Amino acid sequence: MKTPAHGSCQCGSVSYTLGAEPLFTYACHCHTCQRRTGGACSVALVILTDSLAVQGELTPWHRTSDKGDTNTRYSCASCGNVIYGIGETSPELAKLQSGTLDDTSEIEPEVHMWTVSKQPWINLNPDVGQFETQPEDQLELLQAALDYRASKTPA
Ligand SMILES: [Zn+2]
Ligand SMILES: [Zn+2]
Repeated sequence: MKTPAHGSCQCGSVSYTLGAEPLFTYACHCHTCQRRTGGACSVALVILTDSLAVQGELTPWHRTSDKGDTNTRYSCASCGNVIYGIGETSPELAKLQSGTLDDTSEIEPEVHMWTVSKQPWINLNPDVGQFETQPEDQLELLQAALDYRASKTPA
């Protein structure tokens, strides 16, 4: 994707500039993401936290994961649109909700996780890496995403 890329919440009070290419894009089909988005899954870009410059007021919300880690979601203080999240175990990385980008045309999940709770009517590309839950090591997600990216690039 082209950077810098821009995005905003629904009401426009919060806008941002993403200054560097995301590391990878994933879809999470866990029930928490289904509830949080009100949809079938969450699609997010893993980015360097430092590469995101946000204008406008955000409201943080903290959630403790099953493993006991605290994840913080940042939403527009006016309309409640979730913009990104950061986990305490890797504060240098943020998960940017892909649908908030102005241009979503190039967004494609490069790895899927929590397929065990995926909605049955979503048919995944078999070439994309899939995890039934979430790998202990986040690098496994990155590796699967890079493998998929390499498979799409003609040799
Ligand atoms: Zn807003
Ligand atoms: Zn999830």
